[in-house]
Amino acid sequence: MASSMHCKSIIGRCTVGLRRVNDLKVAACTSWMQHRPLSTKFPEFKNNPQLQSHDQIYKFSLENPDQFWSTLARSRLQWSKDFDTVKDCDIIKGHIKWFLGGQLNASVNCVDRHLDTLGDSTALIWEKDEPGTEEHVSYRQLSQMVNRISNMLKKHGVKKGDRVAIYLPTSPVAIASMLACARIGAVHSVVFAGFSAEALAGRIEDAKAETVITADEGVRGGRKIPLKKVVDESVSKCPSVKRVFVYRRTGMGTRGKNDFSLDDEMAKESDVCDPELMESEDFLFMLYTSGSTGKPKGIAHSTAGYLLYAMMTQKHVFDYKVGERFGCVADIGWITGHSYVVYGPLLNGATTVLFESNPIYPDAGKYWEMTERLKLEHMYLSPTALRMLLKEGDNFVTKYDRSSLRKLGCVGEPLNREAFEWYRDVVGGGRCDVIDTWWQTETGGICITPRPSEEGAPILPGMPMRPFYGIAPALVDQKGEEVTGNDVKGALCIKSVWPGMARTIYGDHQRFLNTYYTPYPGYYFSGDGARRTKSGYYQITGRMDDVLNVSGHRLGTAEIEDVLDDQEEVAESAVVGYPHDIKGEGIYAFVVLKGEHDMPLDKLANELRGMVKTRISSFAQPDMILFAPGLPKTRSGKIMRRILRKVAANKPDELGDTSTLFDPSVVDAIVEKHEEVYGKKQ
Ligand code: AMP
Repeated sequence: MASSMHCKSIIGRCTVGLRRVNDLKVAACTSWMQHRPLSTKFPEFKNNPQLQSHDQIYKFSLENPDQFWSTLARSRLQWSKDFDTVKDCDIIKGHIKWFLGGQLNASVNCVDRHLDTLGDSTALIWEKDEPGTEEHVSYRQLSQMVNRISNMLKKHGVKKGDRVAIYLPTSPVAIASMLACARIGAVHSVVFAGFSAEALAGRIEDAKAETVITADEGVRGGRKIPLKKVVDESVSKCPSVKRVFVYRRTGMGTRGKNDFSLDDEMAKESDVCDPELMESEDFLFMLYTSGSTGKPKGIAHSTAGYLLYAMMTQKHVFDYKVGERFGCVADIGWITGHSYVVYGPLLNGATTVLFESNPIYPDAGKYWEMTERLKLEHMYLSPTALRMLLKEGDNFVTKYDRSSLRKLGCVGEPLNREAFEWYRDVVGGGRCDVIDTWWQTETGGICITPRPSEEGAPILPGMPMRPFYGIAPALVDQKGEEVTGNDVKGALCIKSVWPGMARTIYGDHQRFLNTYYTPYPGYYFSGDGARRTKSGYYQITGRMDDVLNVSGHRLGTAEIEDVLDDQEEVAESAVVGYPHDIKGEGIYAFVVLKGEHDMPLDKLANELRGMVKTRISSFAQPDMILFAPGLPKTRSGKIMRRILRKVAANKPDELGDTSTLFDPSVVDAIVEKHEEVYGKKQ
């Protein structure tokens, strides 16, 4: 098979690089720490004196990935049939396969196998939007829900390999639906229930989903969101859809020709459904994320590798112990919701919180009131939420008892020093580790994170710091050469392979290769830039492609431009990000109009924002729109976004060389217009 040869060369390749990574790590550790215990122990390596420190295990995971990952796969997952080949990977070709020959089922691993020991323990705490209301679902109850939905889907003709679109708020029925798909071998595609009808339709069509599961309405921040109405509009454009199951969240559901009440259909079914035996590499789910073209990418994850990686990271990054309550407040529409609300915690037999609300409803004390009431040990949230709450003052935090908290995680964007310190000192009272985790939809789970480590190893603000087991980060320069040493910058790549990495973009493997493996042959390219500090720690510097990160949500600039350009008065547009106090990055659209136009500009700006809301989502609406006299272009017609970014960031004195532009005078005109509309730099 392809692979034993390729694998060997990969191990060789990694080993060389890894020696360097380890040197850095060793340099980064003081000698007293090398013998300190691990932040989370491995029962698997208990009797091996060579595998006791964090450095030893990290090094082992890179130099002996087959042994490391196969040991964990066998000890932590439940297999119906053991695998015979640990991996068949060729990073140069973007060919990634793990645990071949093995068979297992994700829902069995998440639910069934806990029934004997944890059947009556709480699996899910649904923190509903209505303030102070929670619902507890035990592992046994979750099992019943999963089995009923599985039987329901099967009865309606859903088969192994079919794609099922889930457009639901974070709720027990959403989690049970995801697991029911997994149980019968269908591939779930959860679409964030804030996306517009058009965005949902695009995702349903791309996946050729025949089945949609939704709710009559969502409830968020006290407001009702007409989910079913959105689905109706989408489905009218999606000939592939044969059936829509509607969960009764508020009782306002409508009934169409192909609609079924999820509640009624479930009630008719038995709570026993045999799980489908899935091959390790069968797809578990796909999840759309933005790229640098207008079309979102359906990132596909396979079963065994993803499960193992989600499980390992939830356990070792957060030092999770059974019985603790894990509060990841992400929506299930994003990868964080998949890996750290659903799969990671349930695989580890955790009690996981499903947060339906928003952080400021009814007030900015929402998270901390919930922390006190549910006695959460773990909180995992976004920097945007922290920055928003920080501005509201400490009193919203300190009036609640947070003594249960042990670990404070965050993800999605760089965590600035001020927010880091507030999280550590005010929220955690200086007692808890603050864990800034870097990872992506494509990586399946956390890749760079201060924990695990030696117990008590330093955690510095503003950076995720250390690679997780099995992850060998590399910084690569523009020529594709790896940048060695410390205090250096480059494109953030990973040169090892790990089980949780994405396998393809659904229906477009070539795009997958072009995006992640062609830019730097021999490396997985993340699209982010990073710095390795003097001490050898990793700090993320931001996206290197035309992707924005707004409140932790990825958006392609091209996605927004496509919508703006469709307005009949618009000749062309260019969208860039700019630093935003709360959201991390704001959206700035430069719009060039066709010659004559009738509509007043403020009306036109509102119309453009409305179009973006309708076609993508409200979070994609530009914060600033400038009707510009033209765009700065090179002689070959390429828009120089670098210049627009400087204008948007109010840094007209840092525009750099504009002489290569086709018409350099357009830059002065843009700056003048920007200052006229948004004020001069102070
Ligand atoms: P997503 O796939 O939607 O989760 O977005 C992944 C992107 O979010 C990454 O490529 C980064 O640009 C950004 N990101 C995630 N975590 C962090 C972090 N801890 N620090 C800085 N940026 C992050």
